[in-house]
Formats: sequence, C-alpha cells, structure tokens
Amino acid sequence: MNAPSHDIANTAFETLAVHAAEPRPAHGGSVVHPLYQGTVFESVPGQSYDELQYIRLNTNPSQQYLHEKLAALEGAEAAVATASGMAAITTTLLATLAAGDHVIAAGAFYGGTHHFLTEQAPRQGWNVDFVGPDDHDAWAEALRPQTKAFLVETISNPLARVADLAGIAAFSREHGITSIIDNTFATPVVFRPHTIGFDLVCHSATKALNGHSDLVAGVVTGTEEAIGRIRHVLNLYGGSLDPHAGFLLARGLKTLALRVRQQNASSLALARFLEGHKGIAQVNHPGLESHPDHGRATELFDGYGSVFSFRPAGGVEAAESLLKGLHLPYVAPSLGGVESLVTRPAVTSHAGMSAEEREAEGIHDDLIRFSTGIEAADDLIADFARALGD
Ligand code: PLP
Repeated sequence: MNAPSHDIANTAFETLAVHAAEPRPAHGGSVVHPLYQGTVFESVPGQSYDELQYIRLNTNPSQQYLHEKLAALEGAEAAVATASGMAAITTTLLATLAAGDHVIAAGAFYGGTHHFLTEQAPRQGWNVDFVGPDDHDAWAEALRPQTKAFLVETISNPLARVADLAGIAAFSREHGITSIIDNTFATPVVFRPHTIGFDLVCHSATKALNGHSDLVAGVVTGTEEAIGRIRHVLNLYGGSLDPHAGFLLARGLKTLALRVRQQNASSLALARFLEGHKGIAQVNHPGLESHPDHGRATELFDGYGSVFSFRPAGGVEAAESLLKGLHLPYVAPSLGGVESLVTRPAVTSHAGMSAEEREAEGIHDDLIRFSTGIEAADDLIADFARALGD
C-alpha cells in the first residue's frame, strides 16, 4: 500500500486526483511514480498463484499503484484495471454469473455492451431481460431465483438518460443481487455510485479518465473481496492492462477534475445554444430543464457530463451536412478526450444494434452525439453557429 505520509482523506477531488496513492517519500525521490515495465519479479516463498509478481496477474508495482489511485477516486476499497472498457464489463459479468444465471439490464446501453448482452451472453448460458430504467414493475416482473446481477449505465449512451439509480441500488440490495454500473459518461467527478450503494462500478478508462484519446483501458471498483474475485477471473482470461498504458492513464487521472468540469460547463452552454436554434429539432442533455431526467440528475450529480446528443431539423441529410460543416470537432466515435468529437451513433457506436432496436430506443438515424472537449465554449458555439448557417 502506497500510503501518503499526510492525510488526504477529506480533501477535494482535485487534490485527491493528484495525491491519492502517491508514496511519500516518493520512490527514489521521483515526483512521478516510476513506470515498472518488467514482466516478472523475483519470487517470494509462500506466494499463491494470484500473488506472484507478473504483469498478467496484475501484481507489477505500477499496476498496484494505479489500482490504488483508481479505488481512491471512486471511493472504493479496491480497483482493478483491465485492457479495455469492454474487458471491465465482460470480466465483471464473468466473475458474477454462472451458466443458467439471469441479468436485468436497465435502459439503453453503449452499443458494444448491448451487442455483448444479446450475442455473447446467451453463449455463456446467461439470460438477459432489458427493462425500462424507471419501471419498477418491470424490474419486479423480471426478477427470478436465478437473477444475479442488475446492470445499468449512469448516463446512457447516446440519449443521456439517467435511470432511477438509487432505486436500482436499493432493489438489488433488497433482492440480494449484484448491482453493476457503467460510470463512464459521468466519471467520479460527477457521480460516485458506491455512495448510493452500487456494488461494482465499471469504466471505459479509454474515455475521460485518461482524457487524451491515446490509450484503451478499463477499470472495475468495489470491495476488496469482490475485486479479488474479479481480478482472479481477469488473470485467467488474460485481459490485464499493460503498465505502460497504466502509466499514461495515471497521468491523465491527475487532471481529471479540471478537464471534466470545463467540459461539463462548455457542454451545457453548447446544448443551450443548440436548444434555442431553429436548425435543431431536439437536444438530449440532462442539464437542460427540458430533459426528462433533469430533476434526478440535479439531485444526484455534481455537473451533468460532457456528452450529449441532438437531432437537426432536416433528417439524416441535415445531420451529415452539419458534420461536414463543423471545423473544430473531429468527426469520430469515442468520447471524453480533450478534443471535441462528433459522430452519428447509428453508423458508429450503435451500428451493432439492428435498425429496429435503435428506433425502439430512440436512437434515430439523424441523431448526432457530441463529446465536448476542453476547447473554449465560445469557440465551439461559434463553430456550430457558422456550420448552421447563422
Ligand atoms: N462503456 C461505455 C459507456 C462506452 O461508451 C464504451 C465505449 O465507447 C465502452 C464502455 C467500451 O469501452 P472500450 O472501448 O474502452 O472497450
């Protein structure tokens, strides 16, 4: 355990992001935690398999440092990093479910997660029921003796819906099932799901946690016991994160709060501008009073996230022409980086869903998703105004 010599337990998130898990005195006096890239370390007598120091087993000192930092930021006892966000979600499910078990999945999901739940979950012998994010009756109807997990995203991709998260945590606890939340869109700056009782928190650290669009990683946080089980499964399936990517991720984490707060503020300013524009038919941003989950987001969150979606007036043609007309954002999938990214989910992040499934969820072909970077809000608004012909 890299315990700092001074107490940072009650400091602000900004301070925690810089100082959590940083050893004092620093290793070799280095203010930046050193990168241990070595695969294998000298054995210590009596070590169990999972304790052997080897990168795949997540026991390299750089990996352990990263795990401590990630746990501190989510306010969890423990964390484990994975080779991608999908590895975080699938390993969590693999460690939680056996053949014949059942999962309740609430609301809309990232396309990859949805694809996994519909295509791969049945191959594992798992049954999945998709239910409404607020539909307590549907949750109760879906419940069976084999139900072992309840899965939800904090802010759904791409419609930015906020499920009844407190209700899901309470329902899961009441029925003895594991509550799992994908907190990628919110980040722990906006919301820390363990504080309302979620058992396991997953992230695609590829997105805002790293924030620089230059690595792929995931994380799961929870109790020591739960993370120990997940790490064991991860060790066997081989989806561990390489320490070099982990080194870059730890660097990104130190500026997480600064980036996310700026992105959140710009995102809301841009959403307000678009909502008032005649060329825009609909804006889905939980910070807008018009969003169906605005009240819940205001109650639970500190900020509203930086990814939102909207539909231009004029359908797919108008959407494509807007994407072509913008100068600052890159037309690219993914999200959470310092540069703004814009994409049409129907052909990128949610292309794995059928057209009927997308329509049923409200992910229309002309829907545009915007991931707000750290550019000045005024410059982003000016770019949109120009592209919309103002
Ligand atoms: N969860 C969410 C909400 C995502 O948006 C994504 C990717 O876009 C993932 C998980 C998967 O992350 P990765 O690409 O790091 O596997």
